Amino acid sequence: MKEINCDVLVVGAGPAGSVTAWYAAKSGANVLLVEKRQEIGSPVRCGEGLSKYWLKDVGIPENRRWIANEVDGARIFSPSGKVWEINEKDAGNEVGYVIERDQFDKALAELAAKAGAEIMLKTWVRGIIKKDGYVRGAIARHMGEDLKINAKIVVGADGYESQVGRWAGLDTSLSPNDIDSCIQYRMTGIECDRRYCDFYLGSCAPGGYIWVFPKNEDTANVGIGVQLSKLKYPGEVKQYLDRWIEKQPGIRKGKKIDMVAGAVSISKPLEKTVDNGLMLVGDAARMIDPITGGGVSNGCKAAKVCGEVAGEAIAAGDYSAAFLQKYEKGWRALLEEKQYRNWLAKEKLVTLSDKVFDDIIDLLSGTKLERLNALNLLKAVREKFPDLVKEFEDFL
Ligand SMILES: Cc1cc2nc3c(=O)[nH]c(=O)nc-3n(C[C@H](O)[C@H](O)[C@H](O)COP(=O)(O)OP(=O)(O)OC[C@H]3O[C@@H](n4cnc5c(N)ncnc54)[C@H](O)[C@@H]3O)c2cc1C
Repeated sequence: MKEINCDVLVVGAGPAGSVTAWYAAKSGANVLLVEKRQEIGSPVRCGEGLSKYWLKDVGIPENRRWIANEVDGARIFSPSGKVWEINEKDAGNEVGYVIERDQFDKALAELAAKAGAEIMLKTWVRGIIKKDGYVRGAIARHMGEDLKINAKIVVGADGYESQVGRWAGLDTSLSPNDIDSCIQYRMTGIECDRRYCDFYLGSCAPGGYIWVFPKNEDTANVGIGVQLSKLKYPGEVKQYLDRWIEKQPGIRKGKKIDMVAGAVSISKPLEKTVDNGLMLVGDAARMIDPITGGGVSNGCKAAKVCGEVAGEAIAAGDYSAAFLQKYEKGWRALLEEKQYRNWLAKEKLVTLSDKVFDDIIDLLSGTKLERLNALNLLKAVREKFPDLVKEFEDFL
């Protein structure tokens, strides 16, 4: 079997993998980024809604090539049609730009390549190599041949369906309550307001929501996420979306030009994301925001830390779980508290009736929140519906 060697093997060239490879290469490590697909970023499985404020922190240069539309904010619609408008800064990690995800992912891979990372496409990792309690590389299939990749550190950035963590013995399992099953159409010839990303709550999408993210004045990504435990059979999520579209005159007149299906985790943070010679990042580490289902920004923020720590570990010659704790602590400092809070809030939100959603949106549309986050939301709801947030008292 052909063998190759590297310091850091990154499995998966999604946003989290490319940013990890970029920062690890920048710090001098010899990095190999492998992707099972033949084209980075394609096919797109994303609503393409992205906030902007974090891009600078990660050092990602904004580029017109991957920005399709810039929005002013979000509109949250209650089941009876009440609207709560939120400005872009406060609206969470899916509101700011509507992007071209295929171009965005390629731009991040280019940053990794320019920093010196090697990239191999059509390279499907099928198992990891473990020796003396350390992950030491992976076995991959490349152009019909098996390939042994020896690495000092392996980073699992292999997305929602991640296997790298499981192979290494980390618990990345999800319960049906912590998964949203999604389906989305790109629709053209519709009526949409390109200034807003729209979200529709309530029984139209049990345990999740419907989104309309405008790419331009007459084309948008129209999608739905439904909590897996609320689905009676696999095709039901599509029926929910189709039924909703049928009731929207401005949307049902449009044509579908693309369709994607997928899933997102809406879970609390994992207990453990590192082991000897191993780190997990992005969707593979279940870093998605449990309220919005958005994972690109969280994945990239953690990936910067992951790449930097990988580089430091290579320089120090120490690939132990004890050394890699620096990553575990680093990403948790950035994301954990909010992810846990939003998971708790999600647990409550999925139990609410249409009537309560109507009352809450009604209340919030007249409330000026200092800063929009799960905590301030729960506090605002407590003013009028103390019973609803009883179990969060400790938190508030
Ligand atoms: C329908 C839908 C809509 C969404 N909308 C939004 C949104 O609007 N905004 C947002 O922020 N997030 C959204 N998300 C979530 C977002 O897409 C993910 O959080 C994001 O892609 C995570 O990035 P990642 O790099 O961790 O994983 P991914 O982007 O999934 O990348 C993982 C990569 O690893 C590769 N790979 C997997 N296994 C292997 C292997 N064994 N060997 C080699 N390569 C492998 C895959 O091919 C893939 O390229 C949505 C998700 C879905 C399903």
